[in-house]
Parts: sequence; structure tokens; C-alpha cells
Amino acid sequence: MNNLTVAKFGGTSVADHAAMSRCADIICENQDIRVVAVSAQSGVTNILVRLTQSDVTADERQTLIDQIRDKEYAILNDLNQPESIKVALENLLAELTSLAENPELPTSLKLKDALLSFGEQMSSLMFAELLRQRGVHAVNFDIRQVMKTDDNFAQAEPQLALIKQQAETLLKPELSGSVVVTQGFIGSNAQGETTTLGRGGSDYSAALIAEALEASVLQIWTDVTGIFTTDPRLTKAARPIPEVTFDEAAEMATFGAKILHPATLIPAMRRDIRVFVGSSRAPKEGGTWVVNKAETKPPYRAIALRKDQILLTVKSPQMLHATGFLAKVFGILAEHKISVDLVTTSEISIALTLDNPTNTTTSVLSDTVLSALKSFCDVKVEENLSLVAVIGNHLESSHKYDKKPTENKLWKALDSVDVRMICQGASPHNLCFLTPTDSAPAVVESLHDVLFD
Ligand code: ADP
Ligand code: ASP
Ligand code: MG
Repeated sequence: MNNLTVAKFGGTSVADHAAMSRCADIICENQDIRVVAVSAQSGVTNILVRLTQSDVTADERQTLIDQIRDKEYAILNDLNQPESIKVALENLLAELTSLAENPELPTSLKLKDALLSFGEQMSSLMFAELLRQRGVHAVNFDIRQVMKTDDNFAQAEPQLALIKQQAETLLKPELSGSVVVTQGFIGSNAQGETTTLGRGGSDYSAALIAEALEASVLQIWTDVTGIFTTDPRLTKAARPIPEVTFDEAAEMATFGAKILHPATLIPAMRRDIRVFVGSSRAPKEGGTWVVNKAETKPPYRAIALRKDQILLTVKSPQMLHATGFLAKVFGILAEHKISVDLVTTSEISIALTLDNPTNTTTSVLSDTVLSALKSFCDVKVEENLSLVAVIGNHLESSHKYDKKPTENKLWKALDSVDVRMICQGASPHNLCFLTPTDSAPAVVESLHDVLFD
């Protein structure tokens, strides 16, 4: 292990010249930061996603491209319009425009990923220049040479051995004299075609780079001073957590704490890389350390909320005393690379939850999947549901944290909640339930009052 630190700056952290300058301060104050992964500027990926949709008119397309151009030029102007950067930016905008006009875009995941990659390409171009203007020897490195993935456009799987090999040969040599500025979120497949790791994937990119370079610290710089007991946007009572374990933080990320992409901690856990989460607006305020072993193991650590859940109930009259039904259902879901979160079963039916985020270029349940399931069972799809996860320790059985479950504060708090489905027992670190999206924020707020006040 060395002292190498990989720092990731999210969309709000690189939103404009002032925000980027605060990130530059952080880098200039810490010689260990040798690799910097940036997100697209805040809002840019959402605009790019909109551009991929089939109902975008030529006028709207032009407006969206102009919005991106304005954001980039605002930074370029503050950088005093260096000619080489202006040329590079114009080239990127020209490529982006031609892709946006491609009639095959709305139906091609490959073209969609290519288009989505421009946000990170532009922000890294600007940020490397800003660092150079601050006297830092910074290079803008195209991470697609290193971040090798499979062909699963929109949700590409990293190819770890290849990433390691490419990082050794292409990235490591750059580190001796420079700060490497590179892109989160994007990668490339074996053919060199651009792929993406899924929305919010820059955190995961930074963790994969940290792993490949055997870094000792991964810093995630965002717009809040660390990981909080719940999303601070949901309740003012949320408070930062100084230290959490990998397990707890991974559960939080999996169940919707947007602060970290769900896969971020996997590479960090594999190599025991310490992860710091803090605010680039207020770096001196400290943040959260995610570590292997924490000082405390409280029963309740945090509450996560994930909106846009689908509850899929499949029912087969043949399931009574039959075998293989579960395998068949899960086989179809696996074949279509659909990941299931919560599951409950009865004798003749299975209910399972699927994440169906908006603002992505794909939708989780296609007609093909539904008709494959309908060929042998009844299928019911419920929407407008949210998943609430209470994260902590020893949550697998309520008697471990309270002798009388009926007097337990968590169960008491759930008493008044409209619970559509509940899962407890599989993991010591979570208790999850589904509730209507309309009431979910209020549910989180009242649960937070009960569990953390
Ligand atoms: P970035 O662009 O830096 O990646 P994100 O918007 O993806 O930032 O993530 C930061 C946001 O995550 C915060 O602004 C906050 O609203 C949200 N969030 C959700 N859950 C939590 C939590 N438990 N602690 C802190 N922030 C959270
Ligand atoms: N820019 C990408 C997104 O908005 C990736 C990221 O920000 O992490 O999803
Ligand atoms: Mg994020």
C-alpha cells in the first residue's frame, strides 16, 4: 500500500468555475491526491438523457444542446477561453450534436451510452485546464482506455483483470509527475465502444480506479458533509455519521442513499481502501469515514429511501407442491439482467421488488420479460411504491435488540405506516418495507424521529 488517494468530485462539485476552484483547493492541499475522477456538471447528464428520447423535437433538441453549450462556455469564459480547450470543446459539441441527430439514437443503447459520455468528457477537459491554471501539472486522461467493461450498455460490468492491467500500463506511468484528471461513469467494451456504468456511476468508477492502482484512500466529494442518518433533504433532523462500516454503508447505498452508487464499496471492501465522504463546499467540516471496523455497532444507523419501485407479483396455480417455479421466474429475470431486491413468497405466489429509476435510458420491465412470465403464470405489476430501509446491526431478529417485539420502538413506529410488503431476517443490517411513494418521505421523517431522537 502507498498513500495514493483517488478523489472523486460529483456533479455539483464541478458545476461551475467557482465550484471547480473549491475542488482545486482540496487537491492543492493534499499531495496524496494523484488521480481525480469527475462527474458531468450537475444537470448535464439529465439533459443528455432527454436528448436520447424518441419524442424530442428538433427545436427541443437545439434548446437542450444550447443549454449544455452555455454551461460549458460559462466555465470556458472564466478560464479566459484558452484556444486549445475551446477547439477541444467545439469538437466534443460537434460530435455530441451529430449523435443527438442520429435517427437510430432512441432505439440504440450503444448510441445512448456514447451520447451520455459527453458530460464527463467535457467536465474533465475543463477541470484539468483549471488545475493547470492553478500551477498544477494536470493531464486529462481518457479513462475508456482503462475502464474496460462488458457489452451491457447503460449498466456495463467492469472487467477487473483488464482494468488492472490497463491501469498498470497506461495510468500508473502518468502518476509520477502529474495529477491525472479523468472521467467517472464511462468505460469501453472490447471493441472500444463507449459504455456507461449506470446513473451515479462515477463513485463506482473512482472506487475501481482506486482498486486497480492499489490506492489507500478513496475520497468522494459531494454536496453534503458526509453520510447522514438519512437523506438531509428528507428531514432537518438528519445528522452526519462520523464513521460507518462497509456493510452498513453498502446497505445504505443499495437501498437508495444516493450519496454513494450502490457498487462503490465493493472494490473498496475487496482491498480494504478507506473511503471518505465529504462536502467540497465545506471540506474543513469533516465528513464520514467508511471503514472495515467501526467503534460502535448501534442497532439503528440510518434510514434509506428508494423511490420508483415496481412490485411484481407472479402467481401460479401449479405452484402448490410443485418444484422449479421460483427457478423458472428467476431464470427469466436473470436472462434479462434484471436485479431483484426484496422477495416474499407464499405457497402459490412470489412478490418481488424491482428498481425502476427514472432518468435512465432503459426501463426495467420490457414487454418481452412480461410475456415470458405470462406464458406460465399470472402477473401483477404495481407501481408508485417506495422502498424504505432501516439500516443497522442485529436487525435480522427483533428479539436481539428488544426482548418484546411488541414494545420495540421500530415495530411500534411501523404500526401507523401503510406497509405493502416487508422483509426482515435475511440480513442483520436491514429491515425493509414498501410503502406508497406519496407517503414515503413522511414515513421516513417520522421513523427518523422515533429511532434517532
Ligand atoms: P454527486 O453529484 O456529488 O454524486 P449525489 O446527488 O449523487 O451527488 O449525492 C449526494 C446527495 O445524496 C445529497 O445531496 C443528498 O440529498 C443525497 N443523500 C441521500 N441519502 C443520503 C444520506 N444518507 N446521507 C447524505 N446524503 C444523502
Ligand atoms: N454523470 C453521471 C450521472 O449523472 C454519473 C455521475 O454523476 O456519477 O448519472
Ligand atoms: Mg452521485
